[in-house]
Amino acid sequence: HQSKLPNVGTTIFTVMSALANEYNAINLSQGFPNYPSSQKLNDLVTNAMTNGYNQYAPMAGNLDLRLAVAHKYELLYKSTYHPEKEITITAGATQAIYTIISAFVRPNDEVIIFKPAYDCYQPAIELNGGKTIPIQLYAPNYNVNWDEVASKITSKTKMIIINSPHNPSGTIWSKDDLLQLQKLTKDTNIIVLSDEVYEHIVFDDAQHQSACLFTGLKQRSFITASFGKTFHNTGWKIGYCCAPDYLMEEFRKVHQFNVFSVNHPAQKGIADYMQDEETYLGLNTFFQRKRDLFLSLISESRFKFQPSKGTYFQVLDYSEIADEYDVDFAKRLTKDYKIASIPLSVFNENNKDDKVLRFCFAKTDKTLVDAAEILCKI
Ligand code: PMP
Ligand code: GLN
Repeated sequence: HQSKLPNVGTTIFTVMSALANEYNAINLSQGFPNYPSSQKLNDLVTNAMTNGYNQYAPMAGNLDLRLAVAHKYELLYKSTYHPEKEITITAGATQAIYTIISAFVRPNDEVIIFKPAYDCYQPAIELNGGKTIPIQLYAPNYNVNWDEVASKITSKTKMIIINSPHNPSGTIWSKDDLLQLQKLTKDTNIIVLSDEVYEHIVFDDAQHQSACLFTGLKQRSFITASFGKTFHNTGWKIGYCCAPDYLMEEFRKVHQFNVFSVNHPAQKGIADYMQDEETYLGLNTFFQRKRDLFLSLISESRFKFQPSKGTYFQVLDYSEIADEYDVDFAKRLTKDYKIASIPLSVFNENNKDDKVLRFCFAKTDKTLVDAAEILCKI
């Protein structure tokens, strides 16, 4: 039979984590913490199971969790999302993204994405018959040329997918970027999918620019988020999306047949945990310390870098060390130096010349110290 995704292989995250395990390397490739998530949160999930939250959650998600999410948007952004109609709990951000795309993208619709782009957007667009329109961003700043974006918007543009803080580069979009996007999409039917899974991980006192802060953008946007990133438990696969009700109504038509609903005790446990706002407000400080530790430890290495502005990833430029293709270099470092990373070109198939690797610093201090010791020897 003919593959529906002829150009897709196994994701780099699976490939590099497997290689790290095979060679017993320190794994800074796939993004996940290697320290335990909160015992209090685990206990709250156990309590939820003990207290009977063991059957299907409501299709749109446990209401306490939707209320907690709505409260967060009021608190952080003074933005109102109605918990009944405008917030849906999903199986991670990945499912939210897939479902949003499949609810709206028809054959031959164009979807603009910014490269390098997180790897789950494009296959979802293509499986639904859409056409990906890439806009290339360049290291080290990955700034957007808004004239170029304007030139790529056509009557076929159905959706624009944005992602700040940005995986893999660790850059963030400014208020001006969001205002430009708002201006370009004004008076169109374009839907914006704003992937904000790292909203609580921004550094150096920068403010996360959520799409919901801009009235014109908010009315055409889905925002997706992931509790896995926020509560250090990527394996639970709980996330959510929010959007104005006319968009959410269409989303739920698909969601109800995609998964119907997601893990109920985990939802209830997270809802109870979020009653203490510090559980998410404290994340910037937590990861800023880890970023600063990691960067101070590698300051004498031959890698060049600009400090990550958000996410728990740091990109390092190895152009002074080797001239090798980044996928080969990342594999060689895993085998010979016992440190695994993610080569950026996998997010960037039209720009394979950058010599940049992504390292995850959501790790114990001990792991960061050990990793830095290796990086200083390369
Ligand atoms: N978007 C981005 C930018 C991500 O980095 C990730 C996780 N790596 C996701 C979406 C998916 O999140 P989840 O694990 O909650 O599905
Ligand atoms: N989002 C994680 C990363 O960027 C990986 C998620 C996955 O393995 N699919 O590393």
